[in-house]
Amino acid sequence: MRKVALVFVLAVFAPSLVLAWLALRSLRDQQFALERQQSLLYQGVADAIAKDILGYVGERQREFGLQVEALLANNKLPDAASSFDDQLQKKWPLAEVGFAVSLDGTCYAPSLLFGSPEAHRFRLENERFLTSRESVEVYWDSPKGSINLSQTEQRSHKQENDESRGTQQPVAKPDGYLSDPSGYAKDQKQARNVEPQQAQQGGKQTYSKAAVAEAEFRRLIGTSTEGTVARFLQNKLNLMFWYRSPRDPQIVFGALVNLPRLIAGLSDLVKIEPESLRDQICVALLDDSAHPSARTQPAFQTNWKRPFVATEIGEALPHWEVAVYLLNPARLSRSAHTLKLTLGLLIAVLVLAIGVGGWLIVMDLKRQLTLARQKTDFVSNVSHELKTPLTSIRMFSELLAEGRVTDKEKQRSYFNIITAETARLTRLINNVLDFSRMERGEKRYNFTRCDLVGLARETIESYRPHLQAGGFELECELPESPLFVSGDPDALAQVVVNLLSNAEKYSAERKQVRLEMRRQPQPVPHVEIRVLDRGLGVPNGCEEKIFEQFYRAHDSLSSGIQGSGLGLTLARQIARAHGGDVVCEPRAGGGSCFVLRLPASPNSITHEPGATRLQSK
Ligand code: ADP
Repeated sequence: MRKVALVFVLAVFAPSLVLAWLALRSLRDQQFALERQQSLLYQGVADAIAKDILGYVGERQREFGLQVEALLANNKLPDAASSFDDQLQKKWPLAEVGFAVSLDGTCYAPSLLFGSPEAHRFRLENERFLTSRESVEVYWDSPKGSINLSQTEQRSHKQENDESRGTQQPVAKPDGYLSDPSGYAKDQKQARNVEPQQAQQGGKQTYSKAAVAEAEFRRLIGTSTEGTVARFLQNKLNLMFWYRSPRDPQIVFGALVNLPRLIAGLSDLVKIEPESLRDQICVALLDDSAHPSARTQPAFQTNWKRPFVATEIGEALPHWEVAVYLLNPARLSRSAHTLKLTLGLLIAVLVLAIGVGGWLIVMDLKRQLTLARQKTDFVSNVSHELKTPLTSIRMFSELLAEGRVTDKEKQRSYFNIITAETARLTRLINNVLDFSRMERGEKRYNFTRCDLVGLARETIESYRPHLQAGGFELECELPESPLFVSGDPDALAQVVVNLLSNAEKYSAERKQVRLEMRRQPQPVPHVEIRVLDRGLGVPNGCEEKIFEQFYRAHDSLSSGIQGSGLGLTLARQIARAHGGDVVCEPRAGGGSCFVLRLPASPNSITHEPGATRLQSK
């Protein structure tokens, strides 16, 4: 049995506990997994908007190139260059100031004398940079193909680039840093304006992907035909588009972009796709000081520097970000908590089910093993019980047959022993046969209206000589008038005999057996037969077990009392088949008391009958 329990614990319970432990461990990562899933989803939203914004800026860049070409088609150079600021502002609303510079360092526009105050300021701030007399910190992007310069130009560019590599930027650049065809390495790491919660989870500082570098205008445009340059002046972003026409690549036309108008165009792009996410997040376009320039929920307020996820737009709008904020941050942890709880409960229920199932299996196995052991004991007990009377019968019949016993008294006593032993054998065989019939469901009862008083008297009288021979004192208290029950007289007599036989078997020094019968009106009218003895008594805690098949509270080996463990099982089954029961009750002063209860017949006499007392020794 222990082996079975051990196998169960090792093969089923321990592995399921390990699995449960692993599952519980994985539960701890649920919140992280859920956040990761959400962050990927929202990152996708931000990336798509950033891409659209870049596309929009690229469109405006191309639009600017077309404007320049249109102007050059109608005006001759250098007139077109000198009047460029005026002309551009009339045609292209996105231009705040238009400028035109030649690669050899002449600034044609905007005019210092006739231009607007913005144009005036622009020229003062940017002239030295645009005419390549000064290197400044800029962000630039020149995505478009190269232009054919004259050989002298190309040589001069190459020389300048070589010089710049040799003198200014000789060092190898670390991976991931952009280099530009102009030869300037953009390798100044700058912290991002925002700290996205998801990117920060590893505790690492995140850097901006827009890299700044010091450059002269002529070098940074290199051989490209168009591009953007951004620089910060008094903390204000100056975004410039530039373009040079194949008509005269020496002259570079450009425009300082009017940011409020550009933002007005961009705000249409700041929207949430798919729609189902609209009640979960707010998307904002943050400028270089992390202020929202456009956002999907105008009423939403938060710490703009701490988005859930964010995407930088790039060199065209350096330090600008598309940031995603959770409208209800608690919702995420709540759903992770619910998920954790559900899975936790599921695991607990599964482990419990395995535990309970396992316990039931072990219990069932235990019962089966006990039964198997009891059956083996039963076979050996029955063999013993058969052998003992057979030996006596054989011995006494041989003595009588040989005619060696002449004394009449002795002969009668031997005959009595043979009769008693035969009766014992018959009882045993009847018990075994009845038990097997009941097991197979084949036991049939012949129910008749029978007088229990008469039946008990007959049974006692037939058993009395046997008890007297064994030195027993038999007391009997029976009602004088008959008590009727509906039952099978043979089966009921078998119950009484089994109880008397047990009282005899389990008595030691005090050989007193008593049988009482009375009618009980409560709780329903019934008849009670009590068989009492002053013997060994039923061990404590075995009062119910002794009614189980093959169960013996007094072991044959230690007590020396033979038995099959079927007598009480049969007695109870017969009583229950009659609507009654057999129970074991404690008896004061030692010994045991077995009570057979049977429902009284409706037309059984109702007055309390007087009792006859029979006593014999
Ligand atoms: P058995 O053949 O062993 O007597 P029973 O079913 O008649 O089988 O009884 C079951 C067990 O109940 C007995 O083995 C014995 O331990 C206990 N028992 C039955 N009757 C008595 C009694 N009168 N006094 C003490 N113990 C008893």
